Amino acid sequence: MRLVLVGPPGAGKGTQAQYIASNLSIPKISTGDIFRANVSGGTELGKLAKTYMDRGDLVPDEVTIAMVRDRLSEDDAQDGFLLDGFPRNVAQAEILRDMLKDWSQALDVVLELVVDDDEVVRRLAGRRTCSQCGRIWHVEFDDKKDDKCDACGGALFQRDDDKEETVRHRLEVYQEQTAPLVSYYADEHILVGVDATGPVEEVTQRAMDAIRPYMG
Ligand code: ADP
Ligand code: ADP
Repeated sequence: MRLVLVGPPGAGKGTQAQYIASNLSIPKISTGDIFRANVSGGTELGKLAKTYMDRGDLVPDEVTIAMVRDRLSEDDAQDGFLLDGFPRNVAQAEILRDMLKDWSQALDVVLELVVDDDEVVRRLAGRRTCSQCGRIWHVEFDDKKDDKCDACGGALFQRDDDKEETVRHRLEVYQEQTAPLVSYYADEHILVGVDATGPVEEVTQRAMDAIRPYMG
């Protein structure tokens, strides 16, 4: 299955992506994670991306698209994938469509995670990520007092772009550039929306029920 997750920052895309991809036995491709790995590794791509990420702006399309093209060309992505965080504007969506067409592929479904702004701000303010295994936690909802990952014992960190001013800007960028994808994919008849509030397992269940009709 070829699946895209859309939703504002903090909607729970990364959290749901790990469960949905594992349920469907497809690779999870998160552009934010790939950029962050490049930033930590000090690569040229990382240096370029960091200036945009720190401001909460999108990394330029040419750079992002080249990176996604490389990743989608790998062997493990030939029978399906879950894209988390890409596309993020209509230009990226159009290029993705053409790229897949060249490979005689197409997206099966785009899953929109729906949450309101207040919940998004609460989720981002408490988000912590494991520096070792990449698992996502929340200080309040997961009762993380010790700053250690329950899965692997790694140290948890707060993302630089989860500071309040940057969060506000990222939400504006989402409204202006990414939200138009919802009607873009609705016009292509592959959009499904799910209520992304409530316990993580319930959201995963709702998501699996919503995408089942689109499975090949
Ligand atoms: P979130 O999960 O909070 O929405 P991500 O981890 O997906 O954030 O992305 C973090 C940052 O990485 C973005 O603010 C942006 O700077 C950059 N980024 C990720 N995906 C893309 C993309 N498809 N196009 C441009 N920039 C991107
Ligand atoms: P995104 O990738 O869309 O930016 P994340 O998956 O990183 O979002 O989730 C943002 C924060 O919200 C994390 O701290 C995560 O633990 C928390 N979170 C995710 N899903 C839920 C949920 N259903 N209920 C409460 N908190 C959640």
